[in-house]
Amino acid sequence: MSNQVIIVNDQVMKRVISHYTSSKIVRNAPGVVFAAKLPDTSITAYKSGKVLFQGAGSEREAARWGKAEGKAGSAAVKKKGDSLPDRLAELSVLGSDETGTGDFFGPVTVAACFVRADQVELVRELGVKDSKMLTDDLMRKIAPDLREALIHSVLTLENAKYNEVQASGWSQGKIKALLHNQALKHVLRKMDGERPDYILIDQFAERGIYYNHIKAEPEIVRENVLFSTKAEGLHMSVAAASIIARVAFLEEMDRLSGIAGMTLPKGAGPKVDEVAAKILLKSGEVTLKSLTKWHFANAGKAKALAARKRR
Ligand code: MN
Repeated sequence: MSNQVIIVNDQVMKRVISHYTSSKIVRNAPGVVFAAKLPDTSITAYKSGKVLFQGAGSEREAARWGKAEGKAGSAAVKKKGDSLPDRLAELSVLGSDETGTGDFFGPVTVAACFVRADQVELVRELGVKDSKMLTDDLMRKIAPDLREALIHSVLTLENAKYNEVQASGWSQGKIKALLHNQALKHVLRKMDGERPDYILIDQFAERGIYYNHIKAEPEIVRENVLFSTKAEGLHMSVAAASIIARVAFLEEMDRLSGIAGMTLPKGAGPKVDEVAAKILLKSGEVTLKSLTKWHFANAGKAKALAARKRR
């Protein structure tokens, strides 16, 4: 059974309700303002402006009112950001994404990647899916093909530099915005005059905040830029960028693990504190700092753990 969700404003909502009013049914569920049943479609309208269409005719009915937001099964996956052009997935798009921002160990990496309309299918065949559904190992296998096939740029902000700019007052948002802008700029330069239909940034900040972060940059990428959360599901270019960024992160983690003499864990959980404490005891604070995002709470926790072990 197919499902569609659309979000409508008050005006459209009134038209939706009056259109289906002859098929109205009573449905007492939280947030529901109106429900109707056609022979092949159930329609449920919510106070939030969301209208859910379920059944064989859901696509046809949803199409009367505008663009569907996606499958209702994933209605919880609400996207924020710009309203997007139709058939975006099939256009030529330069996408960007970052990773590593929530990990105590390792760098922040950002990748931008251009996927021309006629490459969308190829990228899919190379195994690119929503990167949230791919394992690290699989991404390591796919990334070399992507780097070979696609015009891209990938930036790795090493911990020493990260700690330096962070201590000087830069927020993570600013760091990310500068890296995205730079990666996008690099790819546009490599594209040799060719221009994407759109640039799609996996949204981590509202447009105004993003551009405020980079306002002092000599060159600011602005033309045809769209922001959306969950953008890796909207165009292959962001999915590919996300994989390339992730693998750059993993490769730097491999290198840093070599320096530490032990495998550095991802994330910022208790396992991370434990390994960090071990490094403190074995190699000292200067070494640990050079492997981490030092302002994370993990630094303090690791110091406390190490102090307890020393006693
Ligand atoms: Mn992202």
